[in-house]
Amino acid sequence: QAKQQPGAAVVAYEPGMAASAGGLLELEQALATAIVREEFLLDYQPKYSAGSREVTGFEALVRWLRPGQGRVSPADFIPAAERTGQIVPLGAFVLRETARQLRAWQQAGLQPLPVAVNVSPLQFEDPTFADGLLALLQTHQVPPTLVEVEITETAAMTHMDRVLPQLARLRDAGVGVAFDDFGTGQSSLTLLRRLPITTLKLDRSMIDPLPESSAGAVVRAACVLANALGLAIVAEGVETADQAAEVERLGCTHLQGWLLSHPMAAADAERLLKPAAVSAP
Ligand code: C2E
Ligand code: MG
Ligand code: MG
Ligand code: MG
Repeated sequence: QAKQQPGAAVVAYEPGMAASAGGLLELEQALATAIVREEFLLDYQPKYSAGSREVTGFEALVRWLRPGQGRVSPADFIPAAERTGQIVPLGAFVLRETARQLRAWQQAGLQPLPVAVNVSPLQFEDPTFADGLLALLQTHQVPPTLVEVEITETAAMTHMDRVLPQLARLRDAGVGVAFDDFGTGQSSLTLLRRLPITTLKLDRSMIDPLPESSAGAVVRAACVLANALGLAIVAEGVETADQAAEVERLGCTHLQGWLLSHPMAAADAERLLKPAAVSAP
């Protein structure tokens, strides 16, 4: 289920799109090579707690360093990677890199903060996905509580039978589970109760119109719901001081967005980490 991104260079294939079909095939071939050569890196976008505005964690966002073309945005290749299934090996790279980075921060004597990783529904098609992720974390000696998986509501709904047991497995081990882009799909309240989630991420499209009042009413209702279910609720795409003040007033527990920080390189994210507490003698 490729997510349609506004302004994306890659759109779903439709018969008759002869010109772009060639372009797509080229992109898919370039992606295949890029996956083998690991031409990708992760940027980290901080999340902040409402009120104190302290950094509480990061979201890992993949970038393609395409030779001759510079950094390619995920909006321009994730839809193609989803359509071809290449998101599976690419997603595996993102998880490996996240585990490696968390381990590196620990070894540097820092107190790592949790990192959220976007996971495609296609990755959950593999019934061993959850066990594989837990094994990866164990190999890198990374506590499962330092990792959160983000899954979109559309993905959760359309792949419910595969997704649900694996999310439960990850949850049981301490991995966080966030419902991404909440408010863009059509999830029922029942689904929210059935899924073993820890966090709701309110899509930027719900934050954008703030502080307009009807949008605020919807955000407030989502916050009340999250609170009743014991979930954290993150406002995504906070761009203005007015929006930040409004989502805090409406009850969001966390904020993410350009106002507070753009996604940044690992070296910059590292500067936001505190030294690990020295253990008692
Ligand atoms: P997402 O998971 O909803 O991530 C949020 C996107 O909004 C990111 O775009 C982020 O850079 C952008 N953003 C953050 N704050 C603001 C803001 O204040 N204003 C605006 N206008 N945008 C903001 P990015 O990095 O281009 O990623 C786009 C999407 O690509 C992500 O949406 C996610 O669905 C997908 N994606 C990124 N990395 C991965 C990955 O490793 N695996 C998978 N499966 N998908 C990924
Ligand atoms: Mg996300
Ligand atoms: Mg999102
Ligand atoms: Mg989004």
